[in-house]
Amino acid sequence: MERYARHQELIGAAGQTALAKARVLVIGTGGLGSPTLFALAAAGVGTLGIVDDDVVEISNLNRQLLHSDAFINQPKTDSAKQTIGRFNPDIQLKTYSQRFDADLAEQIVPEYDMLVDCVDNYATRIAANACAVKYNKTLIEGGIEGMSGFVQIVIPGKTACFNCFGVEDNEIYRQVLGASTGIIGNLQALECIKQLTGIWDGSYSYIAVDFRQCSMERMFLEPNDDCGCKK
Ligand SMILES: [Zn+2]
Repeated sequence: MERYARHQELIGAAGQTALAKARVLVIGTGGLGSPTLFALAAAGVGTLGIVDDDVVEISNLNRQLLHSDAFINQPKTDSAKQTIGRFNPDIQLKTYSQRFDADLAEQIVPEYDMLVDCVDNYATRIAANACAVKYNKTLIEGGIEGMSGFVQIVIPGKTACFNCFGVEDNEIYRQVLGASTGIIGNLQALECIKQLTGIWDGSYSYIAVDFRQCSMERMFLEPNDDCGCKK
């Protein structure tokens, strides 16, 4: 408990126990997945699932702090497992070196409490959202495009899902200042921790971040009646 002593006044022993018991699946170990995984491991989330089908490339290293030169051309899941394993050896880590799709989701999502989606493409976002709705799991979605970023909390049936208002499925984010990934990734981890410890106040489900103006706006998105996510 000494490791987590600075959490105590905020979340108490019960909150820390909830984190220790929690099983969180993090999809993607890139710019957003790196800070998310560090923050969840540091907080003492007991089991972390890590999905990524990529290998480490030199162009990743301006923002993907899990990885380093020693892991170039190696699977990102291996790099993530070693880095997080050294950082907090008490955490159970399960890695999946494959693309997150409906088949993989079917096999692994039921065993997790919550999903944090840290990918850079809409096809995987839509797949993650669909399985969050299907398996009734809370999903923390996040993304960055240029100087804008967002975090969306998806609680099926309670908030809007990622697909409630329609999305394009062919866009891949390419432009990103490395430091901004730390803001969004840590915000995803923070919202995940708030969900797991019961300190989310329920007043918002979407956070828009403007990096140029250095401002943040929040709102609650109601589920769209026409979307299949509303039960
Ligand atoms: Zn929806």
